Amino acid sequence: MTNQEIVEQGKKYVMNTYGRLPLALVKGQGPRVWDADGKEYLDFVGGLAVNSLGHCHPAVSEAIAAQARQLIHCSNLYWIEPQVKLAQILVERSGLGQAFFCNSGAEANESAIKLARKYAKTNWGEEKYEIISMQKSFHGRTLATLTATGQEKFHNGFAPLPEGFKYVPFNDIGALEAAISPVTCAVLLEPVQGEGGVFTADSQYLKQVKELCEANQILLIFDEVQCGIGRTGKWFAFQQSGVMPDILSLAKALGGGTAIGAMLAGEKVASGFQPGDHASTFGGNPLACAAAVAAMTAMAEEKVVGNAAEIGDYFREKLSALIDRYDFVTEVRGSGLMLGLQLTKPGAAIVEYCLRAGLLINCVAGDTLRFLPPLNITTVEVDEAMSILERALEAGD
Ligand SMILES: *Cc1c(COP(=O)(O)O)cnc(C)c1O
Repeated sequence: MTNQEIVEQGKKYVMNTYGRLPLALVKGQGPRVWDADGKEYLDFVGGLAVNSLGHCHPAVSEAIAAQARQLIHCSNLYWIEPQVKLAQILVERSGLGQAFFCNSGAEANESAIKLARKYAKTNWGEEKYEIISMQKSFHGRTLATLTATGQEKFHNGFAPLPEGFKYVPFNDIGALEAAISPVTCAVLLEPVQGEGGVFTADSQYLKQVKELCEANQILLIFDEVQCGIGRTGKWFAFQQSGVMPDILSLAKALGGGTAIGAMLAGEKVASGFQPGDHASTFGGNPLACAAAVAAMTAMAEEKVVGNAAEIGDYFREKLSALIDRYDFVTEVRGSGLMLGLQLTKPGAAIVEYCLRAGLLINCVAGDTLRFLPPLNITTVEVDEAMSILERALEAGD
């Protein structure tokens, strides 16, 4: 089928939940993808921070193929080695105690919210239930996680929403302190906000948040679904500040492209869940875990996390140089290879120009261009992306 045929049939049969570009992808290799008409693109969307090793990394593809011949799925009534191995890798890298596996970022955050409430009620009292999250945050699309999401546009039309959520401005310790009450059970935040516009938490702020949590019997949950697994140039974004959360949610890049999410917690907090408290049929199944073990192993062997820091600095400098050259470009934000370019006008036309010129990028919060290339990208590819981006900015000047 051609691009046009796939798009037309898609519009007929697939629900209209995404503002999709008129493009059907059929193949990916490293940092590049191809559409159904054979056109090639440099991919700086990276499956929205999923394809951190690039597309179809041989170690991941091989692991999936081998596992698919061995055991694709069994129930969590039984143990499987790939899940145990993956949990060990995540625990050893993060310093947290134990892992629970699910299939997506939203589910990882649902798990985090449930564990926080269960632990707090069991240990600190039945009336401790409230989750304080941040304005401009994004935590997923299930009812609880969209309620935790501090952006009203995601809530509209879905009331009644679950109770027990409250929002404060990001990076504002006074506002958090004022919002805390005896019912507060957890603070939930992204160390680097993604969908909200690529905003980084100050290290000092995170330290103060941790102190407030410890002083008030409140759990600290970091949502690293987007900024975790090497994206910021450390394995976990919290390692930038050294502030350890009680609970950590992961997904996106974890499975090398397969659908897997994880929720980690220190051993004591993890013990808040007992058999029967939480579950997922597909969560951490053999196929996804084998892919994730292969992805995490390849990321370590190929030192892509250090590369994300190094190339991130290079890319950031190139982007920063645009501020002086275009008066509608005002700021570069983010960390490692999670970068945002703030415009004073909508970014959609620039995204479309780049697409036609062979570069995939996207735009968040209407006027922030976001870049999430694979973590093993080179300066040559950054230069290639920059040259297309500059042409797009010229065209929009
Ligand atoms: C993408 C994202 C989610 C939701 O993940 P899904 O896999 O789409 O459910 C949650 N939190 C953050 C920070 C995200 O970027």
